[in-house]
Amino acid sequence: MSTFTHEARQLAFQQLDQAKLTFAARGWFPGTSGNLSVKISSSPLLVAVTASGKDKTISTPNDYLVVDAENKPYEATSLKPSAETQIHTAIYRNIPKAGAVFHVHTIANNLISELYGDVSYVTLRDQELIKGLGIWEEGAEIRIPIVENYADIPKLANAVENVLDPRIPGVLIRNHGIYAWGGNDFEAKRHLESFEFLFSYHLQWLQVRHLAVQA
Ligand SMILES: [Zn+2]
Repeated sequence: MSTFTHEARQLAFQQLDQAKLTFAARGWFPGTSGNLSVKISSSPLLVAVTASGKDKTISTPNDYLVVDAENKPYEATSLKPSAETQIHTAIYRNIPKAGAVFHVHTIANNLISELYGDVSYVTLRDQELIKGLGIWEEGAEIRIPIVENYADIPKLANAVENVLDPRIPGVLIRNHGIYAWGGNDFEAKRHLESFEFLFSYHLQWLQVRHLAVQA
């Protein structure tokens, strides 16, 4: 027996579609990379995810499926979940309030992950958009974890699991991309956009800071 309604599944698929087309228009899924998920049920854990290998700039009736906690399709389907679905379920298992997880590959998140990969985190501070992550203290400083890009996906999922910080809704994978999450699709999108702004700003700041007027 299904533990969710047809409407719940449709709503999750619609949310995924909206986020997918928005991010695709920004070029955040190069070469069919990236994947998105929305949680449908916590107990048992059931998640709507993007199917593997699809062109994310278009919408078709076969773009999403529901998987269980073992990353297996929950309903009969010819679609395959992305191999990286394991990282999504690892995040849902460890961050119970997460309702959506978005993963994209961008030049900015790749460069930041490589620049600071050796120290395993990047520290950002004094930025308005830190509020976009739900962190409101004045002068807030955030530390975003970076893990190595292991080819073995269970090992990669385990590495992500080990650095999860409930205060920071994202983890970078070195020269690969970011996983960002939130309580729902709206919040996950806000977090992802905030991270990407902060990364782009930081990279551009590194390029122009020598131009800053000395007092
Ligand atoms: Zn990826």
